[in-house]
Amino acid sequence: MINTWNVIWWQNGKKYIRRFPGDKPSESGAIAFGKQLQGQGITPHVSSSRKAFAIPVKMRIPPEDGMVWCPYCMKWKHFVEKSIRHDNGVIGPAAWRCPICTISIHDFFVRMWSPMMVARLEGRRVKIPSEKAVAERIRTTRGKRRA
Ligand SMILES: [Zn+2]
Repeated sequence: MINTWNVIWWQNGKKYIRRFPGDKPSESGAIAFGKQLQGQGITPHVSSSRKAFAIPVKMRIPPEDGMVWCPYCMKWKHFVEKSIRHDNGVIGPAAWRCPICTISIHDFFVRMWSPMMVARLEGRRVKIPSEKAVAERIRTTRGKRRA
């Protein structure tokens, strides 16, 4: 599967997306294009459109409470509740979404990496996991990264 990298940016209040097919963001041209935008004083966001990425061990702790790991932006984000307009003009139901790439908490990988926060956003009562359960999750997470 060849991934596609999206460079996302805002200019005069409007959102823009440019797609760069390729497995690595540098090889796809997304990074070079992002640097070009930076040169114009614009903040670019690079996001994977297909492949989901695990939380690197170094980033395991979210920098702020209430953040969700976006496996496509590869960053911790404060998800926002909003609906999106599809290419055909249809506006879907509101959901908690990444403010950059708009992936929702219904995504399998979003749920996998931030189960507690997803449950909180969904308003579900969650049990505080035991230390054993947390250790088990970290252990299985490490196993997945190596795979
Ligand atoms: Zn995202």
